[in-house]
Amino acid sequence: MAQLQRPASVYMKGKLVPWEEAMLHIGCEAVTRGLNVFEGLKGYWQPDGQFMILMMRQHYERLKRSARLLHIPCDYTFEQYHDAVDQLIGTLATPDRDMWARTTLLVTDGHWGENTIADFVVTAYHQEKQPPQSIHLGVSTWRRSGDLALPARIKTSSNYQVSRLARIEGRPLGYEDMVLLNQSGRVAEATASCLLMVRDDTIATTPATEGALESITLDIVEALAQSMGVKFERRPIDRTELLVADEIGVCGTLHEVTLATSIEGLALPQKSPILSAIQRRYLDAVRGLNPHPFVELTSLPSVKGRQ
Ligand code: PMP
Repeated sequence: MAQLQRPASVYMKGKLVPWEEAMLHIGCEAVTRGLNVFEGLKGYWQPDGQFMILMMRQHYERLKRSARLLHIPCDYTFEQYHDAVDQLIGTLATPDRDMWARTTLLVTDGHWGENTIADFVVTAYHQEKQPPQSIHLGVSTWRRSGDLALPARIKTSSNYQVSRLARIEGRPLGYEDMVLLNQSGRVAEATASCLLMVRDDTIATTPATEGALESITLDIVEALAQSMGVKFERRPIDRTELLVADEIGVCGTLHEVTLATSIEGLALPQKSPILSAIQRRYLDAVRGLNPHPFVELTSLPSVKGRQ
């Protein structure tokens, strides 16, 4: 059973705080309305011994866009954002593991959008260095909400209620992850990643307007595909297309590029030649083994030279 790690410290109120003391008042909007915006960042050890965060500036910019859409003030600079992650990972990183950090703006004060105050908090968890394992993918009966309900473009916890329901639905059926359809019954994305489908040697994925998060990993996959001479397109995807696809996978900061071996119980016909090549190129780029100009890595000086 999945257990949330309990690392020694978290970052909140501008400083490192022991895990047990990281408290929030039950009356604040972060609790009563689940009001927050967040980003999941991945950090990798590099061959020269540095510890680097993948696409940190892009995550910071998306956090600000989510905050703007929910009217949550975000006056933290990129330098403050970087410093908080650096401080926390500096105390938690170990040479044998990568890290996943969650950077969140939690609404600690205010009421119905008036006098809103948010605290910037960071938690970080250890990650195994192995490439992601292939998964069986289902299609959920739950739907991604529309742009006028709970917009998928906003990365906020409330958006993950449906993802949670979809995973609960998929687990007894043997699916490690689920595709969510949008309000029109076309593919939106997976529960915490975007969908990749290969047909006729072309990688297709859904645009954000179909109910997907504006994914940073997708932009990387697109850039890698371009430099590998693989066609890549963003277009609507029907549910039945998934069932006749040559290859399927998902991608996201945490999932990296994960391959599916089956979709709704049907085995995929090919052993994912295109998506496995993308997966290998992705992992080589983020680990600094074969850098790619599109893949930006930001150093965390506090964890420098540990490896
Ligand atoms: N969709 C959802 C719902 C997600 O939670 C994520 C993970 N952040 C993604 C897509 C992929 O986004 P990214 O590549 O920016 O991590």
